[in-house]
Amino acid sequence: MIGFDNTWLRSLPGSFLRLDPDVAPDPKLVVWNGDLAAELALSPEVQRHAARWFSGAEVPPGAEPVALAYAGHQFGGFSAQLGDGRAHLLGEVLGPDGRRWDIQLKGSGRTPFSRGGDGKAALGPMLREFLISESMAAMGVATTRALAVVITGETVWRDGGALPGAVVARVAASHIRVGSFQFFAARGEDDKLRALMDYTIARHYPQLSPGDGLGLFDAVTRAQAKLIAQWMGLGFVHGVMNTDNMALSGETIDYGPCAFMDAYAPGTVFSSIDRQGRYAYGNQPLILGWNLARLAECLLPFFDADEARAVTLANERLGAIAEIYRDEFLAVMAAKLGLGAPDAALTDDLLLLLPGEDWTQFFRALSEGRAVAPALQDWQQRWRALGPDLAAMQQVNPVVIPRNHLVEAALEAATLGDMAPFTALLAELRRPFAPAAGREAFALPAPEGFGSYVTFCGT
Ligand code: AMP
Ligand code: MG
Repeated sequence: MIGFDNTWLRSLPGSFLRLDPDVAPDPKLVVWNGDLAAELALSPEVQRHAARWFSGAEVPPGAEPVALAYAGHQFGGFSAQLGDGRAHLLGEVLGPDGRRWDIQLKGSGRTPFSRGGDGKAALGPMLREFLISESMAAMGVATTRALAVVITGETVWRDGGALPGAVVARVAASHIRVGSFQFFAARGEDDKLRALMDYTIARHYPQLSPGDGLGLFDAVTRAQAKLIAQWMGLGFVHGVMNTDNMALSGETIDYGPCAFMDAYAPGTVFSSIDRQGRYAYGNQPLILGWNLARLAECLLPFFDADEARAVTLANERLGAIAEIYRDEFLAVMAAKLGLGAPDAALTDDLLLLLPGEDWTQFFRALSEGRAVAPALQDWQQRWRALGPDLAAMQQVNPVVIPRNHLVEAALEAATLGDMAPFTALLAELRRPFAPAAGREAFALPAPEGFGSYVTFCGT
């Protein structure tokens, strides 16, 4: 049994539709996250039922599946109604430490929010979410986790090709997004907006009082600034930082066309649909501010009862985001460089010299006391004179990240029924900071012939 406790359903009527997932005809468990199951203290019985419970074949006892409604700005354009078009929230569980988690199925069938979509997912993208979210967690980044991937026994069609259908069961601190607030704000449903705000405060920021919109905004700003700074430190490109993909909890959510940069280039974009580079690597801090401005618009009535005063407060907050982010980024870089305190000039100079170098390998080389490219050696001397802590650096600069060519090879093999490359890659991603010796192939950037990497959305 899973001890579901569904506070969302009781607290926020009007924010979801109650409906069951599609029944998977022939479910088979392909990956089980035993570590996460243990963290959640799920009983061994859950794993035995995983194929059925986490595919939609059977609704687990106590679950009350819902599709959540939300709105959102997608690539800057507003949709008043998006919502879970292929996902079902099964319910909430409490971990042994009392923390509350959502368990959600993705790829589990059409809902009234599906628009043109089929409500399904192919195996490759669901395994991709599993791999990359596990890697992020292992590197210490706040993220949703994947508990299981189940093949449904159905075929899904993508670009004219037949692919095995799959469902990922994911665990999140919650699925409250900026878009969840935009949904009620756009409809002028002030009471529901207030209920959502208080629910979010109670669930994620319980140190705040109910009604404290400004406190909530500040807390989310800090959490998100910290998160984006971590992404930047690891060379992670989310790919779809739409407001419906930004979580109030501060977790990374909705792994779609995301990927890690090899050579440092601020303009790096992987997503096939991001033609303008809106969500390019180097733009992510700006989009952080843009998305938070959308959240501020929703929370404005709770900043101050007096509208003019609320706007002034909002503008002050928005004006401060760049600096809050910059402090977080400089702290991330100080840790990457093994320095006790941030050094803005040293960091900025490095970023001017670094384009073209493999981001991950460069920092690891520094942390192992190796020589770097000639053009960077003067900088390296300057840095070394500060007495960096190399051992500490090796705890934050990964050796193994989800390199695009390895992820692709693992997913391709899995789609053909061979899980061995996936399993091998996952094992290495789970110990990102261990030395490269004996696993060099997992540490190298893509070979020359791999070409530029393109990822796809809504996959
Ligand atoms: P995403 O880019 O994954 O955050 O998805 C944006 C929106 O499209 C969400 O409302 C999803 O539920 C929906 N969506 C994505 N893929 C599908 C699909 N295959 N079928 C139905 N809805 C989908
Ligand atoms: Mg999404």
